[in-house]
Amino acid sequence: MNPKASASPGVALAGLLLLLCGAVQAADIVAAKVELTPAEQEMIAWIDERGDQMLAELGSHVAINTGTSNVAGINSYRAGLAEDLQRLGFATREHASAPFEVLTCEGGEVEIADHLVATRTGKSPNRILLNGHMDTVFPAEDEFQSLTVEPDGTLHGPGVLDMKGGIVVMLNALRALEVAGYLERANLTVLLTSDEEIGSLGSRELIEQLAGEHDLGLVFEGTRDNLMTRSRKGLGQVRLKVTGREAHAGAKHEEGVSANLELAHQVIAIEQLTDYESNITVNVGVMRGGEKRNTIPGCADAYIDLRYPTVEAGQALVGAIDTIATKPHISNPEYPDVPRTEVWTRLHRPVKDVNPEVDALIAEAMGLSALIAEPVAGGMYSGGGTDGSIAQAVGLPTLDSLGLDGQGAHSSRETTSLKSLMARTKLAAVMIARQIDKQP
Ligand SMILES: [Zn+2]
Repeated sequence: MNPKASASPGVALAGLLLLLCGAVQAADIVAAKVELTPAEQEMIAWIDERGDQMLAELGSHVAINTGTSNVAGINSYRAGLAEDLQRLGFATREHASAPFEVLTCEGGEVEIADHLVATRTGKSPNRILLNGHMDTVFPAEDEFQSLTVEPDGTLHGPGVLDMKGGIVVMLNALRALEVAGYLERANLTVLLTSDEEIGSLGSRELIEQLAGEHDLGLVFEGTRDNLMTRSRKGLGQVRLKVTGREAHAGAKHEEGVSANLELAHQVIAIEQLTDYESNITVNVGVMRGGEKRNTIPGCADAYIDLRYPTVEAGQALVGAIDTIATKPHISNPEYPDVPRTEVWTRLHRPVKDVNPEVDALIAEAMGLSALIAEPVAGGMYSGGGTDGSIAQAVGLPTLDSLGLDGQGAHSSRETTSLKSLMARTKLAAVMIARQIDKQP
């Protein structure tokens, strides 16, 4: 969505700020007037007693490394989550994704750990999909591997925010719902994917299929500034592989065609596709080429990130990159078939537009959280994507960012707080309870 298209002057200003900081709080969602029922208060009191257990549980989740490529780590984490959900009456199954080839000079396959699907059926007419991911960006060999609890309640660890904290919120909200008697009438599916951090390249079809079988999606990704996510940019990824011609850098320099030089030209042209005014960014995050100082490089590759406000803008970017990549910038008349560039593209996160049902849920979350703790401040436009964008793009209204509040995701500075863990678990329990009892 383009926030500048909204009507109020406040939002026009917000659109301007968006250009400066990439994300902004929407001013036009007003907290709903709500009261807590006795059953909801019972859940809140139950959660209040569980701070130590929840903290210990988060510590044990963080201690299992689940970097996307650590299939064994994710397998072990998933087994524990399946047991937790089975104890709550869910039937669980694993869903496999085929490995896929990557377009790089070395080639090779990416293996994806199985995803977890857990279902529980009851009388509620409202079928709810609870969604999150098990993987993190921290590989098994990273130094950042455990939870630290600081004296002020700051929680520091890999995935505390993105999004093991959100999984602990979801599990404990489900336990509270069981204690208060909601769970037996619920129609719930829990989907925890294992490849979100590489763009859900293996789980997309599963997400789309489950989205089609439900009425509402709730995503437990983390957030910042206590906002819910109202809408999101679309995301894409592109890989380039340039083939040149190797030659001795001294004796036969003129017989070489440098893949590095060709890729360098392409990278400069591709980076120029960034257009802040149109909310479009391109980042060549990885470029590699060559093997030896004294050889003209015969292969180079790049891995590129795209962010855009509309489907059309995403497709236009892909078209522009194709044009840049397929018309060589250098040439050697003796070897007309090189340089040659292969392109692999995925628009892996659809644009998540503003949705009236989601806005109503944000208003409800704002009202409820003001009664519970840590008031939700509003809805934001985010430059990041999640599995919720995929679900909503196939028609499932999806509320994102029910997980923990914090900062520094994807870095060794990743933190959240015990206060947020408590507040968000209570909010999730009450929000899910209301959806279970919602009549169509
Ligand atoms: Zn995440």
